[in-house]
Amino acid sequence: MTSIPDAKAPAGEVVLEAIGLTKHFPVRRKLRDLFSNRKDAVHAVDDVSLTLRRGKVVALVGESGSGKSTIARLLAQLYPRTGGDIQLHGTTTKVKGGSAFRRYCSQVQMIFQDPFASLNPTHTIRYHLTRSLKIHDNAGKSAADLDQALNDLLERVQLTPPERYLDKFPHELSGGQRQRVAIARALGAQPEALLADEPVSMLDVSIRLGVLNLLRDLRDRLNLAILYITHDIASARYFADETMVMYAGRIVEGGDSETVTQSPAHPYTRLLIDSAPDPDRLSGDAAAAHQTDGEPPSLIHPPSGCRFHPRCPVAMDRCKTDLPVPLEIGDAPGHWAACWLYDRDEVTT
Ligand code: SF4
Repeated sequence: MTSIPDAKAPAGEVVLEAIGLTKHFPVRRKLRDLFSNRKDAVHAVDDVSLTLRRGKVVALVGESGSGKSTIARLLAQLYPRTGGDIQLHGTTTKVKGGSAFRRYCSQVQMIFQDPFASLNPTHTIRYHLTRSLKIHDNAGKSAADLDQALNDLLERVQLTPPERYLDKFPHELSGGQRQRVAIARALGAQPEALLADEPVSMLDVSIRLGVLNLLRDLRDRLNLAILYITHDIASARYFADETMVMYAGRIVEGGDSETVTQSPAHPYTRLLIDSAPDPDRLSGDAAAAHQTDGEPPSLIHPPSGCRFHPRCPVAMDRCKTDLPVPLEIGDAPGHWAACWLYDRDEVTT
């Protein structure tokens, strides 16, 4: 197989699903704690469920330390999970190192934030792409097949003519070109899902849009399911079909991107939007928004009840004790928030 075919499978089909995904990192014990039974852990991800579908982008938005990248690494099987399930086409991958695991690793590819760190500076672009094609059995049978596959990969990420790039080293490319090479390397596996962890945050502002447009083109032409991790909620509106907002290890709001970004329901989502730079907003409004900023909580001892309650400007008594469940919001189908403000029983009693 030498070229990457445009996908024929129907858009919307579920590719990858996380169900109640949980990850706790044990904290190394201090000398004085050695004789106690205390076992602290960082509650990085708790009970997260999300679904990636063919031809759709899901954005996972939140501030640093909220657990977004941990979710990507769990889905890429780079970390073992503490709890929950990950299913590719409805099947759990159990055995690390088996053929099902290898198939999973081909079909679910990750794109990292820093394209320079993710490419080996001592090897050419040809080496990186050839390795990916060979590992995933997509290099074809002859040298001509391999050349064709390399050209196809570079053309697919709009690095043309391919011969201008194949024998360059990563340091000879711009940041945007390096990220395109990293995307081409992921495509060498012919994946069904891409996990893009802040793929444009280290690039110059002027070239971010080009890389996002490329990912959107791949979504449409290859019918890829894409998880887009970002702290920039404005780019989620532009790029993603669905947006999920994460705070302190939990998803707190979800829905289609237009609704979540234009009619945010959860107080944390509103805070994120108010905190985004907006030249049209007068300084008085911005200052008022930032009065509630506060600090993210410790994930070793996360707050009880709603984890956002110490920062929430509208917290109620029950927020300190009761963990909010996902509640439907208004008329927009699929829009929900984990916030007691939307508990109809609470409102009517
Ligand atoms: Fe604020 Fe309570 Fe809603 Fe949490 S559940 S966001 S504390 S109102």
